[in-house]
Amino acid sequence: MTRSASFEGALAFAADLIRIPGLPGREADVAARVRQEMEALGLADVRIDDAGNVTGIARGRGDAPPVMVNSHLDVVAEGEHSDWEVPPFSGEVRDGCLHGRGAMDIKGPLAIQTYAAAALIGSAPGDVIVAHTVLEERGGLGMRHLLESGSVDPAAVVLGEATHGDVCIGHRGRAEVEVVIEGIAGHASVPERAINALDLLGDVLAAVRDVALERPTDPVLGEESLVATMVDVLPETRNVIPDHVVVAVDWRVLPGTEGPSLLARLRSHIHARVGTLPSGLTYEVRLATERQRTYTGLEEDVGLFSPGFLMDAEHPVVRAAARAAGRRFEGTGAATVRPWRFATDGGWSCGVHGIPTIGFAPGEERYAHSNRERLDVEEARWAFQRYPEVITAIQRALAG
Ligand SMILES: [Zn+2]
Repeated sequence: MTRSASFEGALAFAADLIRIPGLPGREADVAARVRQEMEALGLADVRIDDAGNVTGIARGRGDAPPVMVNSHLDVVAEGEHSDWEVPPFSGEVRDGCLHGRGAMDIKGPLAIQTYAAAALIGSAPGDVIVAHTVLEERGGLGMRHLLESGSVDPAAVVLGEATHGDVCIGHRGRAEVEVVIEGIAGHASVPERAINALDLLGDVLAAVRDVALERPTDPVLGEESLVATMVDVLPETRNVIPDHVVVAVDWRVLPGTEGPSLLARLRSHIHARVGTLPSGLTYEVRLATERQRTYTGLEEDVGLFSPGFLMDAEHPVVRAAARAAGRRFEGTGAATVRPWRFATDGGWSCGVHGIPTIGFAPGEERYAHSNRERLDVEEARWAFQRYPEVITAIQRALAG
């Protein structure tokens, strides 16, 4: 018998998921549990792909364009267990809230989306794709693979990242850039035999501030920002002139900005400061990379760039979702439409692949990644009740 798609079922599923730890790259057990639940709920084509993403389809009654609901399987580290008032992997409901790591980011919303899709089997105007992805907290390798593989082809995406019942339409992107300065190492007592990589540091930091002054601005998302956050000096010895200095730059970028254009901007400002390089000194501006491995064994050097995105507030998908969601608890008017402060996998679905993407989920941003993480049960119930209507309204809008 197929499990019934009730809110109580979704809540119990969320609590179960909280009890299964799953850091980025270690989502195997969470994925297996999600797959099992999708099958029990009667989703079709339930599978786990090469990257470890879990997908299934709630077959609708008609052929309206498919909408994909998406959350991620990974959570951030929980830190010291003793700092939590309620144990991080308890999944306990206390004082009207579901508690624990992932309660709102994002196992609660994942359960709500999965159950809401199941509730639409046989009744939605089109198929609802349920796709829960890996490594979102490390920049979104899972979502990138899912969309590049072509195994799903959604006409719109609804993300389960916390919106506190609003409809979210975008965010800035983030790039981690590094400037690598190379010189020639030598003993500090004979500086004339060495080329000090630190000699360029002042100009590089000044150039970062020069770029920051340019401040491209978006009326909805605000300003671009960049700031130097770390300097590594090698060798790490106080009586040796260093030959290797790396300056790390955290760069929050507006949608439509590509990695190469960022690097070119910083390069030209460094060039303007430094002029002709003293012989023996070189510098390189590059995107930082990181070796990532999925729990399925897929391994890749990933550039640390998560794109931003922004939907037009008047886009039919946004308007349909906001009307269908309604104003949280008040019952009249459309939901508030606004951007997120944090980054999501929407940068891939909308920013890179151009698929209309919005977020709708219960949960308050301030609890995310904290040791007070929780999800208000009544707010979750409200979102669960609104979700099927949000999905079908988007499908109707897409079908014209
Ligand atoms: Zn999240």
